[in-house]
Amino acid sequence: MNSMDKESIIKALLHCQLFSKLTHDELNIVADLVRPISVNAGAILFKQGDTCDCMYIVVKGHVVSITKDEDGIERQIYEFGTGAFFGEMSIIDHEKRSATCEASEDSLLLALDAIDFYRIIWECADIGVKILTAMTSTMTEWLNEASSFLNDIVRWGETARKRAITDDMSGLFNRRFLEESMIGWFSKLSDSHASTNMKCALLMLDIDRFHIVNETFGQEAGDAVIATAGAAFSRCVTDGVIASRLSGDEFAFFMPGADLQDAVALAEHIRKESELLYLEFRKGKESNPKNIQIKVSLGVAVFPDHAKTKDELYQKADKALFIAKETGRNKVVVFSHTT
Ligand code: GH3
Ligand code: MG
Repeated sequence: MNSMDKESIIKALLHCQLFSKLTHDELNIVADLVRPISVNAGAILFKQGDTCDCMYIVVKGHVVSITKDEDGIERQIYEFGTGAFFGEMSIIDHEKRSATCEASEDSLLLALDAIDFYRIIWECADIGVKILTAMTSTMTEWLNEASSFLNDIVRWGETARKRAITDDMSGLFNRRFLEESMIGWFSKLSDSHASTNMKCALLMLDIDRFHIVNETFGQEAGDAVIATAGAAFSRCVTDGVIASRLSGDEFAFFMPGADLQDAVALAEHIRKESELLYLEFRKGKESNPKNIQIKVSLGVAVFPDHAKTKDELYQKADKALFIAKETGRNKVVVFSHTT
């Protein structure tokens, strides 16, 4: 199987992108310099870390390249089939082999020694230019592949992170992110220099009589109310405010750096904007559409006036929300120590 006649070698070279632009005469020159070698499945052509002396072109069969990471875990990184070439990197950059190459099936290869590769480049400039141009375009393809792979990973990571911190239905942050933001903010209080002028506010919001939407028009209508309200709330807040859905029809807004006046202003703004939201639902397919208006109640508490810790701030804002519900709904109530 080792012996290949010259025309077969030329044919094989033509199949390889590196030599596909060469004339017949040029292919003749290269054909004199390559050695056909046949290898059995499992044969190691070279090992990661080896010094290198030649590159290979696959005539028939398959070769895989495998790298070992720092933990000794092996990963297959490329597969080379008919017409592919490998092992050229080390002869160009004079570095040790970056991967191990192993025949994954019985294969026929052409080996081109480093010394002959350089001889072609120096002595036959026309052939050298064609080979190096082909090599560049192959490497560009690999780089594009690698960069699009990296982009996919980055995009996947961003999506995964976004999903981990957002609430799908409302599009706002989720309870976990709110908690983490508040824990982060309150942890800075231990730094006495920073803590002197630190202030923040928490608004707790609950949609009024939300169960009526569910009961009258169905769960899907209720979901649509949550989505519409979530979008409206996010339009109301400025950068730095963490608008989140806690669960069901309960929302919270954490305002780092805000005082009572800022907090009440945002709470009133959200309440009024909510009142402007009208949604149209039908009880059944035949019935006339009915408008429903969204109304919300909010409780407000601020640090350090009403609370000294995160949990206390939460409880105080919740208490204020409870009073808002008890005293008529569709209103903003600020926590008061006297109630
Ligand atoms: P109140 O003014 O006292 O808040 O009255 P309410 O009817 O809004 O009462 P409450 O806030 O306790 O009711 C919340 C309801 O929200 C109860 C639950 O069935 C419903 N709910 C919770 N999660 C979802 C959801 O994801 N989608 C829908 N459609 N409904 C939900
Ligand atoms: Mg409610």
